[in-house]
Amino acid sequence: MTKKKSRIGILGAGISGLSTAYALSQKNIDVTVYEKEAVIGGAIKTAVIDDWLVEEGPNTLMVKSTELWELLDSLELNDKILETNGIAKKRYVVKNNRPLPLPLSVFDFLKTNLLSLNAKFRLLKEPFVSKKKQSDESIASFISRRLGSEPLDYAINPFVSGIYAGDPKKLSVKHTFTSLWEMEQNHGSLLKGLIKRKRRGTSIKRSLISFKEGNQSLPKAMAEVISGSIDTETEITSINKKKSGWKAGGNTKGMPFNHTHDAIISTLPAHSLSTIFNLSIPDELNDLPYAPLSVVALGFKSGQIEHPLDGFGMLIPEVEHRRTLGVLFSSTLFPNRAPENHELLTCFIGGARNPVLASKSQQQLQSIIMDEIGELLDITGDPVFTHHRYWKQTIPQYVVGYDHYLKQIEEIEKKYEGLFLDGNFRGGVSVPDCILSGFETAKKAETFLELLSS
Ligand SMILES: Cc1cc2nc3c(=O)[nH]c(=O)nc-3n(C[C@H](O)[C@H](O)[C@H](O)COP(=O)(O)OP(=O)(O)OC[C@H]3O[C@@H](n4cnc5c(N)ncnc54)[C@H](O)[C@@H]3O)c2cc1C
Repeated sequence: MTKKKSRIGILGAGISGLSTAYALSQKNIDVTVYEKEAVIGGAIKTAVIDDWLVEEGPNTLMVKSTELWELLDSLELNDKILETNGIAKKRYVVKNNRPLPLPLSVFDFLKTNLLSLNAKFRLLKEPFVSKKKQSDESIASFISRRLGSEPLDYAINPFVSGIYAGDPKKLSVKHTFTSLWEMEQNHGSLLKGLIKRKRRGTSIKRSLISFKEGNQSLPKAMAEVISGSIDTETEITSINKKKSGWKAGGNTKGMPFNHTHDAIISTLPAHSLSTIFNLSIPDELNDLPYAPLSVVALGFKSGQIEHPLDGFGMLIPEVEHRRTLGVLFSSTLFPNRAPENHELLTCFIGGARNPVLASKSQQQLQSIIMDEIGELLDITGDPVFTHHRYWKQTIPQYVVGYDHYLKQIEEIEKKYEGLFLDGNFRGGVSVPDCILSGFETAKKAETFLELLSS
């Protein structure tokens, strides 16, 4: 059976699909969102177990644009927002088996043991390092060239693991740390670029947030105002271009279906496009790398942990030869993450640094993590609460030469009118980036519908 549903079919009810659906709904355009899982939100998943609140995916969202503040306002989420408290500015990085705070002021910087005296002097040379003329470069090459190897090892490497679960030797600086890349391109130096940026200033509020009931509040609030339908437990298995429009086929709660739309917006991972779309999709998109990651939440009685947990968390650089990538001090960051007199730590393991490890069992991972962070944070005894989530292929890796993938995606869209490709492999992996990219895609789809009707 083929029946015309809404004019636009959106594949995937992660934040990319939902924000596109939201923006189209604001323009009174009905959509049908197809989601294979029973729950919407994709990587945004909050688990509430007894009095513990665990984020299985993103823990914090950096809101720094007017569009995002307006979105939160229009979704009436303002009174549900939790902002990280001042303490969260402090971040620990492990060096020589000790968690050391990252310097927050010039005075801290001068006395920190995170960098040697030589490395501190080397930083002063940054404005005099000449600009390199090349179309792309790895984060590792860029940072060691401009700032030296110690800042790469003890600042950038652990952050890249924290944000992308990625390898700085493989990731493109142009597509991940875009503002640093642009500072070199436009001002010839990071220091000069930073000074210019500071002078320009901005009045837009910048805040690292979550929500009282966890990050899943955001997709839930979006879903409530979307006009059209969100079909959960509905897997899309084929997309065909026909004279009558785009035919989406699949099964919903075990029943096969075919629906036709004027346009399709896909937010599915790049590697699934060539199997689902009966179009000429370059095989190379199957190879766009994604990093596997495991999230292990561990709960303790407060008395079991000697460390004050007075910060955002603790990152572990690769040069320290441990397997845990990092730990968030979740119950310090936000209230209601752990029962009274208890602490919640959210630990990350696997990623591009150690992909095989990500798929190990909860018990194996817990034992590795406890071995490593137990001594770093002075923990006594076993956790009183544990929770595990394995992400097989969720965070795309924006590797050196990523322009090539982006060009292929643009060419597919040019070739097939009414098809739009979005998702976290385009425009940034963070939740805010996915939202802004979703809004852009909605504008393109709206223009297409107008042209079709004219
Ligand atoms: C562990 C982890 C921690 C993170 N931490 C942060 C953080 O702190 N801050 C931050 O900003 N970002 C963070 N991110 C990144 C961010 O969460 C993701 O990049 C973003 O949520 C991806 O959204 P998306 O909609 O593009 O993709 P997804 O969330 O992957 O959504 C795609 C959707 O498509 C559905 N789907 C797939 N195939 C089909 C099919 N055939 N038919 C129908 N539906 C289908 C999937 O079920 C899924 O719901 C983190 C990610 C992870 C995994």
